[in-house]
Amino acid sequence: MEKITIVIPTYNESIGAKLLYDALTSTLNTEGFKYECLFVDDGSEDDTIEVINSIDEKEGFTISTLELSKNYGHQVALRAGYHAADGDVVICMDADLQHPPEVVNKMLEKYKDGYEIVCGIRNDAHLEQSFKKRTSESFYKVWSWLTGVRLEPGSSDFRLLSRRVLDEINAYQEKYLFIRGLIPQIGYQSYSLHYTPNDREYGESKYSIRKMLSLSKNGILWGSIKPLRLASILAFATAMVAVLFGLYTIFTYFFGDGVVPGWASIVSIISFVGSLQLFAIGIVGEYLGQVLQEVRGRPLYHVRSFNRKMMSLIDAK
Ligand code: UDP
Ligand code: MG
Repeated sequence: MEKITIVIPTYNESIGAKLLYDALTSTLNTEGFKYECLFVDDGSEDDTIEVINSIDEKEGFTISTLELSKNYGHQVALRAGYHAADGDVVICMDADLQHPPEVVNKMLEKYKDGYEIVCGIRNDAHLEQSFKKRTSESFYKVWSWLTGVRLEPGSSDFRLLSRRVLDEINAYQEKYLFIRGLIPQIGYQSYSLHYTPNDREYGESKYSIRKMLSLSKNGILWGSIKPLRLASILAFATAMVAVLFGLYTIFTYFFGDGVVPGWASIVSIISFVGSLQLFAIGIVGEYLGQVLQEVRGRPLYHVRSFNRKMMSLIDAK
């Protein structure tokens, strides 16, 4: 009998967490599998952890909780869950029921077929041209262009990993790891499973535009150093413009009316070039900041408590 650990990052999900557990217990195929729902509480300010602790466990489904010391954000909560998960198979899903529990059964079927990675690919067709869809599509395109690695549009953190692949991922010591971008590069048999997300019925999305921008920026810093080269390309481009402008000035002096128009163009060129320089320094600064964080090697998160039901371990083996 194999043990499946379902890692569920939660942040203020007192309603969703219980509903998800009920949905999982009534939907998942228990033939040949034992489940552990590992809730990673990412510093919730509401009673999420009390609600989880009060859930009555159902046959074949144990509950474990990993409480982080404060709110670190979804990606860090996911990493913490990956570090703590000890199942033969590990599946990560959101607590808000946007990742449909029935898809987990399909993921497990693919696992039985021999796939070690099953990626949930969000089918965004129903979103039409929403802001989130457009920004996510553009980001995946830019990311793929910068890194040379194809990231399928709709890639999400709803995925299944075999024990072996999870161990490989956990071996990465980097403080910031863009797991979505790492998966297509890690090899192994991988299957893209398309699913239609449910609407979020309870609570609200915690992914603000600021958090989405931060995820995208970190994803790019993690995946590529091409932006650093952008500075050299910009330098070359501005040098060409400067040469053309110089030629124009000489031409006007000798063959025009002799008056070279001045102040406005000089000021705008200087400020334009100045902002390009600051932009280039900013890019270098972002990479430098990442290097500093990695070199410091500070812990990625602190754990307040970790409660794992030992029974589940004995049963599952
Ligand atoms: N989440 C988390 N920490 C955070 C924000 C979110 O653990 O700081 C969890 C949240 O409880 C949910 C999952 O991450 O289970 C996805 O978050 P959300 O639904 O807000 O993101 P969206 O679906 O809007 O992208
Ligand atoms: Mg959600």
